[in-house]
Formats: sequence, C-alpha cells, structure tokens
Amino acid sequence: MELYDVVIVGSGPAGMGAAFEIANASKKNLKILMIDQEQFSTGGMRNDCKMNFTYPIGFPEEYWSADQANSMMDQVIGYLRPDILPKTNIDIYRKRARRLGCDLLDIRQAHLGTDGGLLLIKRLLAELNAVGIQLSLGETMLSVDDTHQVIATDKRDIGYKVLLIAPGRKGFHFLQMMLQSMGVPFVDNIVDIGIRVETRIEHYPIVNDYYDPKFYFPEKVRTFCTNSGDAHVVKERYVTARADVWYSVNGHAYSAAKHESNGLTNFAILKTVRFTAPLASGQAFAENLGLQAALMGGNKPLMQRVGDFRLGSRSKENSFNADLFDFPPSLRDCCPGDISLAMPAKILRAIWKAMKNLDTIVPGVLHPSTIMYYPEIKLYANKPQYLDDHFRVTNHVFLAGDGAGTSRGITAAWASGIRAARGMLGLLE
Ligand SMILES: Cc1cc2nc3c(=O)[nH]c(=O)nc-3n(C[C@H](O)[C@H](O)[C@H](O)COP(=O)(O)OP(=O)(O)OC[C@H]3O[C@@H](n4cnc5c(N)ncnc54)[C@H](O)[C@@H]3O)c2cc1C
Repeated sequence: MELYDVVIVGSGPAGMGAAFEIANASKKNLKILMIDQEQFSTGGMRNDCKMNFTYPIGFPEEYWSADQANSMMDQVIGYLRPDILPKTNIDIYRKRARRLGCDLLDIRQAHLGTDGGLLLIKRLLAELNAVGIQLSLGETMLSVDDTHQVIATDKRDIGYKVLLIAPGRKGFHFLQMMLQSMGVPFVDNIVDIGIRVETRIEHYPIVNDYYDPKFYFPEKVRTFCTNSGDAHVVKERYVTARADVWYSVNGHAYSAAKHESNGLTNFAILKTVRFTAPLASGQAFAENLGLQAALMGGNKPLMQRVGDFRLGSRSKENSFNADLFDFPPSLRDCCPGDISLAMPAKILRAIWKAMKNLDTIVPGVLHPSTIMYYPEIKLYANKPQYLDDHFRVTNHVFLAGDGAGTSRGITAAWASGIRAARGMLGLLE
C-alpha cells in the first residue's frame, strides 16, 4: 500500500485551493495525491463558471468573517485570474429595491461559461502536475479507516498522514456516510428550496447591466445563479439512499465570446429553510419535495407559465407552443404542470412575494410567458462539528468546500481549501 503525506479527495475548487497551498507553502518535499471520481470536477467550474469575488457571496457567515474572507481573496484571484465584468445603473435598481425593503448587492463577478470553465480546469490540472502533485482521475473514494489512516477507493487502499475530503454538493450524502463512519457529529438542518425562472432578456433587462444580480428579499429569499446569452435550464439527477430518483433544475450559459445569444436568461429564486427539532435533516425534507415533484411530473421536474400560475391553472403542452407564450422552454424534458400543488405554501408565498417585488424593481419579469421551473434545491448545509478553525474533524482528517458547509460557490470553496491546507501544514511541519 502506498503512503502519502497528503491525500485530497475531490478536484473541485476546494481540493485545488488546498493542493496549491500545500505544494507552494510547504518547506518540505511532501508527497501529495489528489483523486477524483470524474475526469474533471463536476461542480460550478465545469458548469457555467461564474465567479463572485465579494464577501459574503459564497461565504457562510457562521464560518467566515469579512476579514477572514478578504485576507484570502487576492490569493484566490491569483489562481483563477478572473476578468471582472463591468456593471452599470446599479444605483437605480438598488434605490428601487430599498424602497421595497429589499436589497441589491454590488458584487465583483467574472463569467467564463461552461466551455470556458473546462479550459480553466485543464489549465489548473496542468499547473497541479507542474508543482508535483500526483493526480488520479477516475478513482472513487469508498471508505475511510481513520484509526489506521487508510482510505479505500474502487482501485486500491491508500495510506495518508493527513486527509482532506472535499466532495462538493453531489458528495453530500457520501460525506455524511464518512462522518458517520468516523463518529463525527453533524447536522444538516438548512436547505435552499425554490424555483428557476426563465424569460426573454428583454423582460429582465438588468442582465445587460449586471451579469448575475444578487437581490435579497425579506423572508430569506434571494436571487441566485443568473445565466444569460446562450443560456439553458438543465436538470440534475439525484438518487436517495433508497434508490429513488428525483430531479432538481439548474442553469448555465456558454461563454459570451464564442456563442451566439439565444435571447434568454434564467435565474434561481430560493428560500432558505432552517429546521429545528424534531426534524433533523434538511436533505431528507428536500428529497421528499423532489420526489413529490417527480411523482406529479412523471419523473420530470415541473414547469408552469406565469400567466397560467396567475390564473390558478396548470400549464399544459399547448401552453408552451402558441400565442402569447412566445418562446419555447430551453429545458424540453420537463412536465407542464401546477407548481402550487407541489410546493409547500409557506415557501411558495415567500417566493411569489419576492417575484412581485422583483417585477417592480425590474418591470417585465412577470410577463405571462415567463416560465417557473420547480424544484431547484441546494443541498450544501452539512454542518460537522469542527475541532478547530481549519475545518479539522479528527486528528488527521479535514473537510472543505460545499459538501462540508464551508462554502457556497467557487471562490469561497477555494478559500476554504486554503484554510484547511494551513491546518494540514501545521500538523505536517
Ligand atoms: C450545476 C452546478 C452549477 C454551479 N454553478 C456555479 C457557478 O456558476 N458559480 C459558482 O460560484 N458556483 C457554482 N456552483 C457551485 C459550485 O460548484 C461549488 O460552490 C463549488 O464547486 C464547490 O467546490 P467543491 O470543491 O466543494 O466541490 P466540487 O466542485 O463539486 O468538487 C467536488 C469533486 O469531488 C468529487 N468527488 C465527490 N465524491 C467523490 C468520491 N467519493 N471520490 C472521489 N471524488 C469524489 C466530484 O467528482 C467533484 O469533482 C454550481 C454547482 C453546480 C452543481
């Protein structure tokens, strides 16, 4: 069995942030291995790759102060090398928002697009190789024996002195299994639940001024992940522990430089839901909502035109063809239906109220042709009991990234990898 000083599971931004920090900051010649079950990381660097460089976007405030986040930002920028997008007319929108008790955050952003993200990943993987990190792509971690400091993968056993597990949102369930096997207490009581809105750019023209406008509304509702240009709504497949399948929608766009616009924009509008006793698992709750939507949609997510929603009627196939409803949905494999039958009333009420506010700030977004897709669910709130400021959960095991609740976006995931790496270096040197 091969022994490494450092084993990193996950080649997303959290894993990469940690790998570069250890390789560049260590005074020793450490043996470092990074594995990933895929050939390229599967999160946001590979999907849309829009990056936010202003606190608190992406930084959960329970783990990050503004000073902590800002102290790492230049380092993150040094690796990601973003072209920050210009913004215009922000004050006008913000004034309108504040009059309604809402807010618009002014965030430094870059957008590479799904194609540009792949180029970034390839560059970073080559740079990891160049600093001597061994990469094993297409290798899946299955379990950990922390007493003997060994992980088992689908290919072999690997020994470690320190281990970083950074499996992202899709690894949420896997991470819970690892935490249980190591006896690390955790809760997952927070989840974001909402819809994805798709409309013509002319009905949401703010995207010409601000690529991904971050609106905050009362009742913990916010806009999230806006895509425009050659923009598409997509579905993501999730499987529960009982092997039931459900879908969440998401969105992405290709790079503006290389792709012609399809004239559409899409964005999520999400409500954060925090549970207290007796319900412990936000994931279990969200899965049940996902399953309910799949049941109603014949194993597909649901979509409804705003015009139908306002009339209290379900959308049907012909709602997506004719007359007023003047653009086809970019996600074809979706079921026309009635989202108010599938969504809990409290969440729907808060989201619809936010949409009405948004329509006053950016008039037009509630055009009858606008499509609401449901469900869009974000599972990233595993909250393990950390032993220190470096996201250490046992003597030798550290966590970072979205699956571990330490970030909610590419930039913060990278920064959380750096923080974990500093703890790992402290143990090794
Ligand atoms: C579809 C999609 C689009 C997104 N778009 C954006 C965006 O535009 N901007 C933004 O800031 N954020 C976006 N995000 C969020 C962003 O992906 C995350 O914030 C960020 O990638 C988290 O980094 P991470 O390193 O924690 O996880 P990830 O980037 O998800 O990387 C985790 C890696 O771990 C690997 N892995 C998981 N389990 C195992 C295992 N058992 N063995 C081996 N490898 C494993 C996975 O294959 C994956 O490559 C998006 C997320 C998704 C899912």
